Amino acid sequence: MHRITILGATGSIGESTLDVVRRHADRYAVHALTAHRQVQKLAASCIEFRPARAVVGTPEAARELEALLRAAGVTTEVSHGEAALESVASDAQTDSVMAAIVGAAGLRPTLAAARAGKRVLLANKEALVMSGRIFMDAVREHGATLLPIDSEHNAIFQCLPANDQRYRAGVAKVVLTASGGPFRTRDPATLHDITPDQACAHPNWVMGRKISVDSATMMNKGLEVIEAHWLFEAPAEHIEVLIHPQSIVHSMVAYMDGSVLAQLGNPDMRTPIAYGLAYPERIDAGVSQLDLALAGALNFEKPDLARFPCLALAFDALRAGGVAPAVLNAANEVAVEAFLQGGIRFTDIARIVGNVLENAPNNAADSLETVLDADQRARQSARACLQELTTSVLR
Ligand code: NAD
Ligand code: MG
Repeated sequence: MHRITILGATGSIGESTLDVVRRHADRYAVHALTAHRQVQKLAASCIEFRPARAVVGTPEAARELEALLRAAGVTTEVSHGEAALESVASDAQTDSVMAAIVGAAGLRPTLAAARAGKRVLLANKEALVMSGRIFMDAVREHGATLLPIDSEHNAIFQCLPANDQRYRAGVAKVVLTASGGPFRTRDPATLHDITPDQACAHPNWVMGRKISVDSATMMNKGLEVIEAHWLFEAPAEHIEVLIHPQSIVHSMVAYMDGSVLAQLGNPDMRTPIAYGLAYPERIDAGVSQLDLALAGALNFEKPDLARFPCLALAFDALRAGGVAPAVLNAANEVAVEAFLQGGIRFTDIARIVGNVLENAPNNAADSLETVLDADQRARQSARACLQELTTSVLR
């Protein structure tokens, strides 16, 4: 029996992971489930999957969860807070950890899983964007197995030869595909009027609200470029982004001899999740087979960086190195949250991130403390920008 901890079990990725696990109850047992606030939803999953441990964000949520579970006769041990997240991610009783918390909050527990030498199924791209070198070093030093769950990186992983430098030398570039989100063809002059619900209505994927907004600004692809840099040791100039509105080709690897390998499939996160769970085997993910005749034409185009300034900012941060990607990520998290709360316009997201990035000092990202400090400062600076924007008479 393979035991798994799911960090962020109530989210979109968490739910899809539980769906795959449910289909293979003979192979997988759930060791721990975590959630931030959705106690009822977590309780229902604990009642179904009977994990040994469950973690929530606050003492109140823990009391509520405990009451629900005891009433249902479930003995899952309940705890709360950051230390508990790190503990369930590194427990000796778990084999794999699905890192599916959204944002910087996932960094410490994901890193704890790597340091405990777990098999880490990485959905939480923000953790890797922030801590790149530190995280990859931890994976190597502690013998962890890192399997990318982000669909593009999972595709590239599938298209790359085994982890052998002799073969990796033949790779010319990696090509990340992007759907272009809901505003790919919208008149740029009207982008400032977009509402949070419009931004979250992704044409091909159903995802959490933060990543949905990131897809609409294409910051998501920017974060993925940085993620690809760390996962595959690819320099910025060997990472290309192509818009592919159908989301059928999930990404590609181009080789020196002119070959291009791609991974295709219907857009459903259960495919990369099942791949990560069973690797190197393949199991049923509950995803229907791709019908290319039905899919029709597949289109590709270069992204318009004027329409999607966040993508350009992410490339800037990657080239700047050091803590710049952590600064980019933190400013983006604050700006996206403010947009989702109705506090700023859609187009302000890129303005805030650009402003924070431009004014932040760039140190080497040589310790977790330095990275977390840069993250905190960038958040303060982004909040100051927000303040300025919301009080500005020029709006
Ligand atoms: P979501 O918002 O649906 O779920 C987020 C989960 O994280 C929830 O379980 C929530 O309880 C938990 N969480 C939120 N804040 C927390 C905090 N402060 N402390 C502890 N837990 C917290 O998000 P999602 O769409 O499932 O995305 C999760 C991660 O996976 C993100 O990093 C995202 O970029 C990545 N990802 C998602 C998809 C997708 O299709 N949804 C695809 C690729 C990558
Ligand atoms: Mg992706």
